[in-house]
This record gives sequence, C-alpha cells and structure tokens, in this order.
Amino acid sequence: MLRQPPGAAWGMVILVLAGTVTGASAAAAPRFAQTPLVGRVLVVDPGHGGIDGGCVADGYLEKDVVLPVAQELSRLLRAAGARVGLTRNQDMELGHMHPGPGSRYHRDLAMRVAISRRLGPDLQISLHANASRDPRMHGVMVFYQPGRPDSRRVAHWLVEALRDLMPGNQNAALPGDFFVLRQVPYTAVLVELGFLTSAVDRAILVSAEGQARLANALYEALLRYYLEEGRSTELDHHAPRAVGAIPSGRRWKLRRRWGLRAIT
Ligand SMILES: [Zn+2]
Repeated sequence: MLRQPPGAAWGMVILVLAGTVTGASAAAAPRFAQTPLVGRVLVVDPGHGGIDGGCVADGYLEKDVVLPVAQELSRLLRAAGARVGLTRNQDMELGHMHPGPGSRYHRDLAMRVAISRRLGPDLQISLHANASRDPRMHGVMVFYQPGRPDSRRVAHWLVEALRDLMPGNQNAALPGDFFVLRQVPYTAVLVELGFLTSAVDRAILVSAEGQARLANALYEALLRYYLEEGRSTELDHHAPRAVGAIPSGRRWKLRRRWGLRAIT
C-alpha cells in the first residue's frame, strides 16, 4: 500500500487553479473563456529526470528535452483555463519519494502514477523521446491505453498535430502496455515526441524553438480532442459555472494562438 508521502514531497506537484484567472470581470473576460479546456484537470508527465537521463544521443539527454516541452505545454493549458499538474518540474527522479518495493526505476513510475491519481485528472499525458540503433527511424509515436477509445482518440489528435512538425517514417498512434497507462483509470497517453537518435528529429527536439513548437502542437491536439468530446457528450461535471461554458449550438474554429473561437 502506498503510504502518504511527506508534505514536502508534494511541493513539486504544481497545481495551478484556474480560479486565480477566472475572477476577471465580464467586461475583461479572459480570452480562454470559451475554450473546452476551462475547468479541465490535466496531468503532464515529463519522463525520467535526475539520475535517470532516459535515452542519450549526441550528448543530449531525453530528460532535458521533455521537461521544457512539458513546462511550455502546461503554461499553454493553464492560459486556456485548465488546471495542470506536473509530475516533475525540475531535473529529478521520483523513485526516492516512493516507499514501495521494486527498483528505483519502477518506484519512479509508481510515484508518477501516485501523483497523477491524487490529482484525479481528466487526462494524463506523458512525454518522452525515442531512440533506435537505426538513425533513419524518426517521427512521433503516440501510445494509448488498449481498449480505451477515449485514449485512442487523444492519440489520434496528437499524431495529427505533430506529423507536420515531425514528418518521420514512424508516425503512428499505437496501443501501448506501459505502466503509466495501465495504472490509471482515466484517459492517458504516452507521447514519444521524436527520435533523439535521428539527426532530423534531434534538431527539433533539442532547440528551444522546436520545443516550443512541439508544446504548441500538443496543446492544439488537446484542444481539438476536447472540442470533439464536447460535441459528442456536451459538458461533463468539470464544466465551469462562472465562465467558459460552451454554448450549445455554436460552431468553433481552432485559432492558432489561443485555441478556439466561435464562428457561428
Ligand atoms: Zn523515455
């Protein structure tokens, strides 16, 4: 059984409440007021960290690539009204925070799941970079929970959003039997942003501009997913009451900078 970690350990869980930005007056309503992300709770999980560098290529470490992408994605999601938790917000592994049995690597994964489950999100997105002995392999791979159509739909939108930026030969949404996907009862995906071992992908993965573009593509994919979900299910219990509810009967268009705007 998982013991409650010390309070200090949870200090690294960054949970920003949208309430701090939704208190604006109606006249100065924030631009995200009409996005389907308002009120959603999302967990962004940058893989590896600390002693666990993840894959390595040309001196670049996976852990250092995924963290800034996760941080920028979190910033965009919060700006669009979501509440976002990061499993790590610095260069650290989490295994030492989990008291359970198993290897450090397993305890790191278990701690990520524990943090995520505590936040109880609508969706969890884990970010990684891939590696292969074959430097010709490149592109984005998104893994979803087998048997979970919601997870598969998110993966679909992620691949769609990322394939232009990362036009590799491995682009695909695939079912994946990963611990962080298996151990949570809500929508979860694991994104391999690209191959660090591919010179083409690596140029994007390690540059600040590339990382920002990756984060933006991830953000747009999540917006599109929730737009589609909103069409099919209307709003669920996370729908905001003060601001941001999407009026039914309106059509929405994805706008580059801020997400969605009404077009009818
Ligand atoms: Zn990884």
